Amino acid sequence: MSFLSISGVTKRFGGVVANRDVSFEVAPGELVGVIGPNGAGKSTLFEIITGFYRPDEGEVRLEGTRLTGLSPDRVCRLGVARTFQKLRPFPAMTVLENVMVGALTRTRDVRHAREHAREILERVGLGDKAHAHGRTLSTGQRKRLELARALATRPRLLLLDEVTGGVDQGSIPGLVRLVRELHRDGLTVLVIEHNMRVITAVAQRIVALYLGEVIADGPPDVVARERRVVEAYLGQAYAQ
Ligand code: ADP
Ligand code: MG
Repeated sequence: MSFLSISGVTKRFGGVVANRDVSFEVAPGELVGVIGPNGAGKSTLFEIITGFYRPDEGEVRLEGTRLTGLSPDRVCRLGVARTFQKLRPFPAMTVLENVMVGALTRTRDVRHAREHAREILERVGLGDKAHAHGRTLSTGQRKRLELARALATRPRLLLLDEVTGGVDQGSIPGLVRLVRELHRDGLTVLVIEHNMRVITAVAQRIVALYLGEVIADGPPDVVARERRVVEAYLGQAYAQ
């Protein structure tokens, strides 16, 4: 059975069609990459899966349960967590407190939330930063904090929006390793990634979007060589 099912999702913003009849399935335990040039509709799709946007048409289901129409809070409690492309740590809070915000979606016991948050910080390699403030972290560390906050909600499905975007080259291998480990430990992961080298190394399957539409879906080496995918990326390169 499919774990995540996206069927016929269309989302318009005025005249812009951000997602056009997007359909694909994700199996339990799969790590699927979502690629596409800027403006392809990747982040919009994540907003729809997580309940921040409502599609004009189509629906999203998790293990048969309809997510479309539910609040982001409900979707989170059903086990879907995401990181944001634009990092949003709460600046006045410590790293630990930021992660506790995620943990408190699962428990009202503050002590328990703190313990859980500490475990997660160790897991993502920020154990020694627990009492630092969000704003003092490097971009790579902030990405780890975003991940920690998402993991603290105990997700079954993790959505990562540009996990290596804006990160210095030196921090990329560590982040990739972490995503691989989380996947190996059983999480189903959907990852938006701009860096083709990263995505072909990490994903089991790639879905390519262009102008809101799925233009390819398959094994990374096959998708990376598809004519429409190459053209979509070349088009972007020429436009810059
Ligand atoms: P990607 O993440 O692939 O770069 P997005 O999903 O952010 O693409 O955007 C897809 C298209 O939808 C773009 O043309 C973008 O300008 C438009 N779009 C996204 N969000 C909004 C919004 N809230 N209001 C208006 N247009 C939007
Ligand atoms: Mg985006």
